[in-house]
Amino acid sequence: MNNYELLIDRIAKSASLEKSEVERKVEAKKAKLSGLISKEGAAQIIAAELGISFENEDLKIAELIGGLRKVNVVGKIMNIFPVREFEKNDRKGKVANFIIADDSGSTRVVLWDINHIAMIEDESIKVGDVVEIRNGSTRELEIHLSSFGELKKSDVVMDEVRNAPAVSEVGLDEVRQGMSARVRGVVVQVFQPRFYSTCPTCKKKVLKQDDETFKCAEHGVVEKIDKAILNFVLDDGMESMRVVMFSDQIKLLIPEEDLSDEVKATAFRDDFLGTEVYLSGRVNRNQLFNNLEIVASDIERVDVEKLILELDA
Ligand SMILES: [Zn+2]
Repeated sequence: MNNYELLIDRIAKSASLEKSEVERKVEAKKAKLSGLISKEGAAQIIAAELGISFENEDLKIAELIGGLRKVNVVGKIMNIFPVREFEKNDRKGKVANFIIADDSGSTRVVLWDINHIAMIEDESIKVGDVVEIRNGSTRELEIHLSSFGELKKSDVVMDEVRNAPAVSEVGLDEVRQGMSARVRGVVVQVFQPRFYSTCPTCKKKVLKQDDETFKCAEHGVVEKIDKAILNFVLDDGMESMRVVMFSDQIKLLIPEEDLSDEVKATAFRDDFLGTEVYLSGRVNRNQLFNNLEIVASDIERVDVEKLILELDA
C-alpha cells in the first residue's frame, strides 16, 4: 500500500467509516479546494475534521507525513552515517543520522540528543538492530529525535523490511530534495538524447583510447555498449521540473537503440512532447544548475480513456 492508501485505511479504522466513504470525503475536499492540494493533504484535513490525531500512535514508516509531533515507530536500522560535529552560536553540537525500515518503507532518523548519539558511538545500537522510537517529530518525511524523545532497542523481530523510501504522490511544487515522489504531469520539453559508453560486464563507464578502442578500468579493452540518457521537462500546472531518465526507464517508452536512429528519435520526441505521464523517481539537487530534478525510476503514460472507463465503473 502507498502512503495515501495507508492514510485512508487508518482514517477509516479510527473513524469507523468505510474506506470508500473516506475516499469520497477526500475527493470532495480536494475538489472544493480546486485541486490545489495533494490527495494526502486532503486526507490530513479530513482526519483533522474527524478529530483523528496521528500523535501518540504507532505508525508505519509509509504513513509518516510532515509536521507530526509525538511520533512512534519501530524499525530496523539499515544504515548508520558517521556522527557529525557542528558549531552554532559558539556552541558545539553533534548530530547523527540513520536509516530505518519496516515492512512499509524506509526513512531517515536524525538524532540531536547526546545520549542517543552516544548509543551509536559506543555501538550499543548497530546496523541490523530493531529499535523503538518514541516522541519523535517529523520534518518532511524524516523523523527527528530531541532529548524529549526515546530511542531503545526493541524485541520485535523484523525479517522482511522494505528498504525503499515511502513514495508519496505530490505536486511538483511540493517535492523536496531526497524525497521519493510520484507525480503526474505533461511533458513540455524533450531534449536531444545523449549517449555514453559502458562495459558489457560491469556496466561502468568506459573511456575511448587513442587507438579508438574502449577500455574498462577493471576489464581492459572491451566491446562497449552505448547507453542513452534522456532529459525532459515535466509540468503539472503548478511547477515544471527537469527529469533525467536512464536506460531502464527509457525502455519503458521506446527501444533504446531507436534513440540512436535520428529519424526514429525525432519521431519519438515529437510524439512524447505533450504526453501526460505518471512519473516516479527520486528528487535530487543538480549540482551544476543548483535546482531540483527528478531521477526517474518508473514512468507510465496516462491512459485517459482507461481512466474515464474506471470512473464510469
Ligand atoms: Zn568492466
